Amino acid sequence: MAEKRELVIIGGGPGGYVAALRAAQLKLKTTLIEEDRIGGTCMNYGCIPTKSLLHQTSLFTSLKRSRKIEGLSESARLHWPSVQAEKREVVERLVRGTEFLLQKNGVEILRGKGELRREKKVLIKGEKEKEFEAETIILAMGSRSADLPFLKTNGREVITHVEALDLEEVPGSMVVVGAGAIGLEMGTIYARLGTDVTVLEIMPTILPGMDKPSAPRLERLLRKQGLKIFTEMHIESCRIEEGQVRISGACQKTRRNFELTAEKVLLAAGRKPNSEILDDSFSSLLDSKGFVRVNSRMETAARGIYAIGDLIGGKLLAHKAQHEGVIAAENAAGEAAEMDYSALPMAVFTDTEFAAVGLTEEEARAQGIQIKTGLFLLQANGRAVTLKSTEGAVKILASSNDRVIGAHVIAPFASEMIPELTLAVQKGLTLKEISSTIHIHPTVSEALAEAALKARGMALHALNQ
Ligand SMILES: Cc1cc2nc3c(=O)[nH]c(=O)nc-3n(C[C@H](O)[C@H](O)[C@H](O)COP(=O)(O)OP(=O)(O)OC[C@H]3O[C@@H](n4cnc5c(N)ncnc54)[C@H](O)[C@@H]3O)c2cc1C
Repeated sequence: MAEKRELVIIGGGPGGYVAALRAAQLKLKTTLIEEDRIGGTCMNYGCIPTKSLLHQTSLFTSLKRSRKIEGLSESARLHWPSVQAEKREVVERLVRGTEFLLQKNGVEILRGKGELRREKKVLIKGEKEKEFEAETIILAMGSRSADLPFLKTNGREVITHVEALDLEEVPGSMVVVGAGAIGLEMGTIYARLGTDVTVLEIMPTILPGMDKPSAPRLERLLRKQGLKIFTEMHIESCRIEEGQVRISGACQKTRRNFELTAEKVLLAAGRKPNSEILDDSFSSLLDSKGFVRVNSRMETAARGIYAIGDLIGGKLLAHKAQHEGVIAAENAAGEAAEMDYSALPMAVFTDTEFAAVGLTEEEARAQGIQIKTGLFLLQANGRAVTLKSTEGAVKILASSNDRVIGAHVIAPFASEMIPELTLAVQKGLTLKEISSTIHIHPTVSEALAEAALKARGMALHALNQ
């Protein structure tokens, strides 16, 4: 007879491990199944290793670009094996810390591939096969990189972020397919290392879905750093010849054909859910792309089965997965929690950073909201001037009654500034409440208060026409 478990979570990424911690705090006997490494994509192959490489390469480029340092020759290079070693150390430390937390909270961790069979039976395929009957299940299997019709990864020349984060040598040239957050961050890392990076995007702008007027501003900044960016590029074929990848297609804007050759092609043009482990009896839980459908309590249509994180689609972000994990665990423990996406922030850790929350201008107009906009350029921000990073801007959107409904920030530390405006959107704060809050001088976040003032025609450090 199958052993019984109170709560089984399949997948130990940010969604699954946070759900496990909250469930254990709420006294549920929790079992977490992970087939690879605790921490999931985010900790092992995503958020954390990219930020480690971005940090290390950023220090190097800042030093190299500085005209005040003597003796740093043009031939100075980053020692790639040491950079990789530091990245691995950072990842290991966080994975071990998370495992420690799970153990101390009494979460049972089982290694192997979980599969969901009918009637909440969970099969674990590992060294030994095991079967459990679970009272409640949280599905948190995440997502993986998706191939394109004419572009399939082979792990050598055509790669995903997993291989790109672990390359033994820095390639001479790389084509990045997809100008979303993953493509732009990976492109930035390799451009800083001296790789000739070309980014191809099929949509008309980089970061499709971002505030339209902000996209060209960020694109200009990235081009200045050496990234070649081409939008509306439709790839039609890919050939590998003598270790080089040849990509061809047509530009939808100019109607011209293009052909590019590179040592590596990094595919960063979409993700697909890891939902194949669900038995056929659960096929009605999936949408046409294989993402699991849930309600605002993270419940699927099958009683006692919840789903969270990348597996359910929407914006594929670690903090979204974590919040959904908390909601699912609380509901599994008998509470009544609901997910609210109206103030879900996001950030891209390029140089300069981009961060946003709430509605874009387009979305607000489509919803028939009369908007007030406050745009404050960083050229008038003291801290940005000291950092020699004045090309960004803060844009705040408010409704006609002055409540903040969205914000779009291109600035150094934008990812650390956006929480203030996330709180504003979440709590319905007014422009005046933002601008009358005292901000430390000199900080880039003073630009938030100035943008709020500008929306009211009362900016102090910019003209108000
Ligand atoms: C290069 C890159 C950079 C990123 N940077 C950021 C960032 O800066 N900020 C941000 O918010 N987001 C970022 N993301 C996105 C973020 O990583 C994901 O949104 C997040 O990891 C999703 O969490 P999850 O728990 O839903 O899934 P995952 O992190 O994918 O975790 C799922 C886990 O389930 C396990 N699993 C799958 N199937 C099974 C099975 N059958 N049995 C047992 N275990 C299974 C997997 O091994 C994995 O560990 C980045 C992604 C990438 C690829």
